[in-house]
Parts: sequence; C-alpha cells; structure tokens
Amino acid sequence: MPSANFLHSLVGSLSQGAAGNPTVAMVEAAFRHHGLHWRYVNMEVPPAGLAEAVRGAKAMGFRGFNLSMPHKVAVIPLLDGLGESASLIGAVNCVVRRGEQLIGENTDGKGFLKSLQEVSDPRGKNIVMFGAGGAARAVAVEVGLVGVKHIAVVNRDEARGRELVDTLRHKAKLNADLVVWRGDYALPADTDIVINATSIGLYDADARLALNLDSLKPNMVVADVVFSPPQTRLLRDATARGCRTLDGLGMLVNQGVIGVQYWTGVTPDAAAMRRALEEAMSLQ
Ligand code: NDP
Repeated sequence: MPSANFLHSLVGSLSQGAAGNPTVAMVEAAFRHHGLHWRYVNMEVPPAGLAEAVRGAKAMGFRGFNLSMPHKVAVIPLLDGLGESASLIGAVNCVVRRGEQLIGENTDGKGFLKSLQEVSDPRGKNIVMFGAGGAARAVAVEVGLVGVKHIAVVNRDEARGRELVDTLRHKAKLNADLVVWRGDYALPADTDIVINATSIGLYDADARLALNLDSLKPNMVVADVVFSPPQTRLLRDATARGCRTLDGLGMLVNQGVIGVQYWTGVTPDAAAMRRALEEAMSLQ
C-alpha cells in the first residue's frame, strides 16, 4: 500500500486507559469485509496531550477518529464545528474530516437508536431512562429527537438529572421530567420503553438496578447500554417477565457502523462487525 494512500485512509481512536480496545477489531473487520485499504488504530492520549494529538491527526490527513472519556467533552473547542445532536449532547465521540474541517459528531445515541428501531419505533412512546451521564445524554437526545411522547429521567444525583432534563426541555423541546432515584423505582403502567443508561452492571453480571420488577410488563421493551457482559441482570430479569430486550452490544456495533459510514461513505456489514467484536471480547 503506498504510504500516501495509507495516510489518507487512517482513522483512529483517541482514548485514555483503553488498551486492548475491542472496537479496533470491529472497525478493522468492516474495512477487510469491504476491501477498504484503511486502518483504525488505538492511541493512548493523556488529557494534556489531546490538543496536540488532534492537530497531529489533522496534519497527517486522518479521515477521522473516535474519542473516549474524558476526551469526549475536552475535544469540543479543538474542532471546527459540531453536528446538531453532538451540540445538544455536549459531547463528541466521533470526529469526521469534511474538506479541511474536523467536525464533531455523537454516534453513541445514534447507535442506540438504530438498534432500538430494529425492535420498536420510539415515536409517540413513553420512555423511562435510568441515568443522566454521558451515555444517557446521548441516548435521550437522539431517541427524543425522533418524536417521543415523554421521557422520564430517573437519576440518583439530582443536579445531574436536572441538567439533562433542562437540556431535553429547553434545547431539544421535549416533554421530559426528572425522578430523583431513591429505593426501588416502580415503572408507570403506561411505560413503553425502559432504558438502563447507567453503568450499573458493567463488568458485574449480578449488579442489581433498583427497580420494582413487578412493574415490568411483557409489552415493554427493555434496553441496556452496558455491553460487558451483554446479558445484564436487568435484561435477564426482563426476559423472565416476558419483555423484549436489547443489549448494549447492538449500540456499540451500530455506533461503529455509523462511524465507518461517516468516514468512508460505505455502509458496512453490521453482522461482520458484531462477529469481530464478540470474538475480540471472547464472547464466541
Ligand atoms: P457516566 O459516569 O457519565 O454516568 C454514569 C451514570 O450511572 C450516572 O447517571 C450515575 O448516576 C449512574 N450510576 C452509576 N452507578 C450508580 C448506582 N450504583 N446507582 C445509581 N446510579 C448509578 O458514565 P457513561 O454515561 O459514560 O457510561 C454509562 C454506561 O454506558 C457505561 O457502562 C458505559 O460502558 C456504557 N456505554 C455504552 C456504550 C455502547 O456503545 N454500548 C457507549 C457509551 C457508554 P449519578 O449521576 O447519580 O452519579
């Protein structure tokens, strides 16, 4: 491969403490599957080095890159512009080179929405979402923008929950309310879609989300953003109550699908990407 071609077809992942990142295998599987002579490389970047890393990526002709925390917020002033939802969410996980500009997008929420739409159309639905952190902001804005009926944000920390609800109400013009999470939460009977957007369950298959399981009804769709392990306790409990469930791997794969689309213009094969991700996570 000529070096100029290599340089102009490079995308990356700027992360801190994410050595062995399984998404590298997933994105590179998409490139191989479609015969694209591209590379996706993971680079450890400390917070103090972010500005230089972004300048370097631009100078070297990177077509884009992903970012993990804490870079998702810190990168914003270093970019030339933001997509609509990234601006509402206040975080960028995917940078795309458009002409000479580096534009910040947020594909986390878009990835979640894409997997949700495979099982349920959120338009006109009542959503209950646990959490108000980075993933929750992305999910709520993106799901909200398709036109939901109502979003209840259930969060332990009142100030963080209030900030998200204010964004949803005043910037995204959505019908949203805050529930300060104390004890087991009982879902309202008219709930259609339940989303865990907290980190409860990450790397702990038995971690329990404070939810009154008797309020889970079989007509509800229950989704989890946690991807490791994919079958969280919440999803197992929901399956036992007859609900349809959605794991966090689908969101992770779909944010990768959208990133590859943004960078290359090719719509990649999601199944090939999911297989590579599961293999890299030793789930196969
Ligand atoms: P943040 O640290 O920004 O937010 C964490 C959220 O979880 C907060 O709302 C916090 O509540 C809540 N929380 C954590 N522990 C508890 C607890 N014991 N009880 C009640 N609430 C709790 O994290 P992120 O939003 O960045 O990430 C959340 C999860 O999303 C992670 O597991 C991450 O791996 C996953 N994720 C998945 C993606 C995917 O593609 N599948 C993409 C991005 C993230 P409080 O505000 O009260 O502290």
